[in-house]
Amino acid sequence: MDSYLQRLATLHAELGIPPDYAATRGLSPCEEAATLVPLGIDALERDQFADAAAAAAWLRMRDAAMADGIGLEFVSVFRSVDYQAGIIRRKLSKGLPMSDILAVSAAPGYSEHHTGRAFDLTVAGAPPLETVFEETAAFTWLTQRATEFGFYLSYPRGNPQGFIYEPWHWLYRASA
Ligand SMILES: [Zn+2]
Repeated sequence: MDSYLQRLATLHAELGIPPDYAATRGLSPCEEAATLVPLGIDALERDQFADAAAAAAWLRMRDAAMADGIGLEFVSVFRSVDYQAGIIRRKLSKGLPMSDILAVSAAPGYSEHHTGRAFDLTVAGAPPLETVFEETAAFTWLTQRATEFGFYLSYPRGNPQGFIYEPWHWLYRASA
C-alpha cells in the first residue's frame, strides 16, 4: 500500500491535484483489482471487466431485475488508475477547472471503479450517467432490491465525500 500511495502522490502532483485531496474529502484509496473476469459488451459497446465475486452478484441481480421486467445494463465497471488519470487529463485539456473535475471524477487511486466492484448502470432509453436515471423504474427497483445482491448506492445527494449525486453508481461490497 505504501508504494501505491507513493505512486498516487507522484501522479497527483503531476496532474495538479491538491496534496490534501484525500484528507479533505475523507476518501480512502481504492486498490486496483488483482484479477478480473470479462463481463461482455457494455451499453456503449466497450468490453468491460469486473471482480469475479462482483460479476457473479451482478448476474444474479441482472436476472432478478429481468424477471421483474427491468433490463439493467452496465456502462462502466473496472477502470485502472492510468485510465482514471487519462479522464482527468482530458478534462484539463478542455480547460475545466480542477475543482469542477474533482466534483465529478475521483482522483486516480480513489475511484471505486479501480476495485472492479463498482458498476455504473443504465437502461435502454435513459441517457447514461445522467441524474434523470433516478426517474427510471430501474432506479426504483435498485433502491428496493439491490442490497439483496450486495449492491449499494455510493454517492447519494449531499454525500460527505463531495461527489455529485450519482444515482447510476452501485458498489458491490464483498461483506454484504
Ligand atoms: Zn461510477
